Amino acid sequence: MIQQKTIVQFVAETNLPTTQGVLRIRAYRNSDTGHEPIAILGDIHKFEGSTPVPLRVHDACFTSEVLGSIKCDCKDQLDASIAYIQQHGGLVIYLHQEGRGIGLANKLAAYALQEQGFDTVDANRQLHLPDDVREYHDAVAILTDLNISTVHLLTNNPRKVEHLEQLGIQIAKRIPLEVQTSTTAQAYLETKRARMGHWLHPKSEPKA
Ligand SMILES: [Zn+2]
Repeated sequence: MIQQKTIVQFVAETNLPTTQGVLRIRAYRNSDTGHEPIAILGDIHKFEGSTPVPLRVHDACFTSEVLGSIKCDCKDQLDASIAYIQQHGGLVIYLHQEGRGIGLANKLAAYALQEQGFDTVDANRQLHLPDDVREYHDAVAILTDLNISTVHLLTNNPRKVEHLEQLGIQIAKRIPLEVQTSTTAQAYLETKRARMGHWLHPKSEPKA
């Protein structure tokens, strides 16, 4: 059974013309936290009953998505996810959980330490911040609103799989999301692979 801790209400649905075509956007508001998660919809009506729906749960990254930072692969993953659901159907849920949940200012503080040679995990520890505090009740509330309980999850992150499953979402299959990215982001990806257990191919091995 899907657990629901927070109160997330549907606000509005609209079309949004973008460089990637017209996106169908649903806005929500969590009256408890004030967060305003959104769902970007591909065709979800073709999935009936218990058919798994392709899903990306994406967390905000101001630095890459707005400023064009090449320190990470977040924007590449978002673009790839939107392209996927446009082609195959499904949805992207976008949550405002910057910096794996520590917030933008803390993330930039960690970047400042990374300039001194710390990797992303050790920088957070220097700041006494957790590696990852993202949580997914809002995503589950949106899936409940859309009557979706079984998904194919686009992710490389085992923690996200585990947390969504704990909240009652059935993940029938994981769809890997390895994107072409900058050489600058490679060090970050290598840290995510080696230290946070993300399902990514090591740099030295060819992709299967
Ligand atoms: Zn990022």
